[in-house]
Amino acid sequence: MTSSILDNGIELSYLIAASLFIVGLKQLGSPATARKGNVIASVGMLLAIVATLLYQTPMNFPLILAGILIGSLIGTITAQRIEMTAMPEMVGLFNGLGGGASTLIAVAEFQRLLSVGEAPTLASMITILLSIFIGGITLTGSLVAFGKLQGIIGGSPIIFPLQRIVSIGLAVLFLVGSVFLLVETTSEPVFMTLLSIALLLGILFAIPVGGADMPVAIALLNSFSGLAASAAGFVLMNDMLIIAGALVGASGIILTQIMCRAMNRSLFYVLFSAFSKTTTAVNIATAEHAERTVNSVDAEEAAMMLGYAKSVVIVPGYGMAVAQAQHTARELADQLERLGVEVKYAIHPVAGRMPGHMNVLLAEANVPYPQLYDMDDINTEFGNVDVALVVGANDVVNPAARNDQNSPIYGMPILDVDKAHHTIVIKRGLNPGFAGVQNELFFENKTMMLFGNAKNVLTDLVGSVKQL
Ligand code: NDP
Repeated sequence: MTSSILDNGIELSYLIAASLFIVGLKQLGSPATARKGNVIASVGMLLAIVATLLYQTPMNFPLILAGILIGSLIGTITAQRIEMTAMPEMVGLFNGLGGGASTLIAVAEFQRLLSVGEAPTLASMITILLSIFIGGITLTGSLVAFGKLQGIIGGSPIIFPLQRIVSIGLAVLFLVGSVFLLVETTSEPVFMTLLSIALLLGILFAIPVGGADMPVAIALLNSFSGLAASAAGFVLMNDMLIIAGALVGASGIILTQIMCRAMNRSLFYVLFSAFSKTTTAVNIATAEHAERTVNSVDAEEAAMMLGYAKSVVIVPGYGMAVAQAQHTARELADQLERLGVEVKYAIHPVAGRMPGHMNVLLAEANVPYPQLYDMDDINTEFGNVDVALVVGANDVVNPAARNDQNSPIYGMPILDVDKAHHTIVIKRGLNPGFAGVQNELFFENKTMMLFGNAKNVLTDLVGSVKQL
């Protein structure tokens, strides 16, 4: 009787927690409600954890408490210290840890069954294998993505001869080993070999992704981390983990689709295009540009152009995030509006280093939402814009994406700032962006470079515009 009441209580708690996750996810869909959504989903997670702790007996509470304390401490300290610009790396790492946790659950369950002399059933072996396959790929794939974003490993594709054949061979080996393990369910050496293959496949999955395609790979790994959690849920027969994992997996797939559409790429292209390209084009482009000159302006001249314009479109990019210049950009917009200039902000879906990066920064600076324009909407207007003010963006305004078939960003839709009457680009030098390619825009006649740290330059611009 008591146990059936407890069971019902747990199921009800899981149901409420799952509903809170869904409501939270819905609210995360808009910057205006995102904070509330985060809190709602966190309450759901707390409820799920408490319900699980009450349900699972016997339990090593001191060990669990120690794990929660250490994890919470690390999480709180990193969340407080992390720079906004390092958020994508952090998310990448979290994906990897999620995959790692699911793999460990599967390994622990396999070892537990062996230690009690029980052979895993067919169903439990399938879920264990799925867990180590998806979890292992997520762990090492995310660590490679983290390394690429941090600059520890170069951002360009890493390829070696026969790489694709090696990957396919390993995948086939995993399949054959899995079939063997379904028959010989207690073979530990085969199990460990399969685990190593999954870890290796994760590395091989992530190293060829390069150029500007990393956002898609990260979104996909995010989805994998959810699927791995779901598989771990089947291993433990825990409904909550299955549901939560499925929600992460599904939203990750939707995000991957959105990113693919934003980059005008198929998922197949993102994952496999590196094998049919070389990076020579990038290096040649950089060398070619080294000799060329650009038009540059100072803050006073730029302020005159902006202050006497009818319409200005501010195009933020990763450099604005690095400089934390969003508040100063807003201040400049306020000053220009005071002079009667119409100001809009153009948002490229992959500007910065994480989906929605620019929206988050501009929301933090209280930029009114109606002033934010998506790429498709603003691109039809650039022809009538007096000044496009590019603040630390590079790849997302690079015309090579339209014109240069050899460029790794070819085919990616860009913000057409070169169609505005004038373009002012704020950045510190002529360094390339994430994709590692030079930008023809900087060398065009109607482009003015305004060199310096975005925050300092914008502060100077605000000062000069105030005097107009
Ligand atoms: P980019 O990375 O193309 O360029 C940023 C530019 O900012 C650099 O060229 C740099 O030039 C400049 N910069 C850096 N620091 C400062 C500073 N303090 N002040 C002024 N300028 C600065 O950025 P974009 O936003 O245009 O493009 C994003 C790229 O990142 C795309 O290739 C995208 O695919 C990729 N990406 C996006 C993700 C996402 O989810 N959004 C995730 C992973 C990758 P300089 O050094 O000369 O100043």
